[in-house]
Amino acid sequence: MSTELAIGIDLGGTAVKACLATASGVILQEIQQPTRASGGPEQVITLLTSMIATFEETARGTGDLRGIGVGAPGSIVHEEGRVISPPNLPDWHDVPLGPALQEKSGMIVFVENDANAAALGEAHFGASKDAPNSMLVTIGTGVGSGIILDRKLWRGEHGFAGEIGHVSIDAEGPACNCGSRGCLEAYVGAAYLTERAAAFLRHHPESPLTAYSKDELTPKILADSARNGDRASYEILYEAGLKTGLVLAGIVNILDITTILIGGGIAAAGKPLFDGIDTSLNTYVIAPLRGKLSAQPARLGNKAGMLGATVPVFSQHT
Ligand SMILES: [Zn+2]
Repeated sequence: MSTELAIGIDLGGTAVKACLATASGVILQEIQQPTRASGGPEQVITLLTSMIATFEETARGTGDLRGIGVGAPGSIVHEEGRVISPPNLPDWHDVPLGPALQEKSGMIVFVENDANAAALGEAHFGASKDAPNSMLVTIGTGVGSGIILDRKLWRGEHGFAGEIGHVSIDAEGPACNCGSRGCLEAYVGAAYLTERAAAFLRHHPESPLTAYSKDELTPKILADSARNGDRASYEILYEAGLKTGLVLAGIVNILDITTILIGGGIAAAGKPLFDGIDTSLNTYVIAPLRGKLSAQPARLGNKAGMLGATVPVFSQHT
């Protein structure tokens, strides 16, 4: 019997990462290209089609190519493979991405929300491989999550499940770009975090980062500075962790999930962020779980999305 293969595509606002992989998550070929989102959906579909053709060529004689999975930003109408208004893909108001790729390739195509695809990736091949229930929280420009319950992705009734970034922790908090107030994302999303950090540092002249403007500060600079002993940088990231942990504790109390993974650019902040998350988690969860929880870093990094996108292709055929 020949090896079953699938194409996994992680469609991002700036780059498309794609791979040809086996059902056990072994990557046989990997391609990364700039998305060039300004060209609109047609141009991106043409790019994806040419990547698919390259993988088909490789798969020939290697194995049995079963289909294509795509992780895409925005709201996804999963059953129809439609992508609705992703924030970082302009002109994508309602794009039938699945049917378009299916028509061009002749293969079955599954389209999944990008946060969900990454959670599937970690749950099948990464840090939550052995856990029946898990959650992957991605903290980057935006804050999202994917929830796995009983080894299945929980999409919710409209595909919106896991929108942790828009859980409000303060009704009078800062305005969020979703139109609400006090959303977690409005504290820990990359842009908000660096803006808050710049304001905080103005009151901490002892910090070597005082000279940085909010446009110059990055989560990585904060993390490096914290690692070098700068207390103010540590505080900023720890505080972001506390706020994240507060929301996570609420989710644990509802779903009783204890495998919690943190990924995305800001997860690279490491210890200060995780210290904050664990402190809050273990303070606000119900008493029997206090002191027992610890968030873990995601393991697959930026491969989680494309590998996770292949999962529905294989599970469809088994
Ligand atoms: Zn919001």
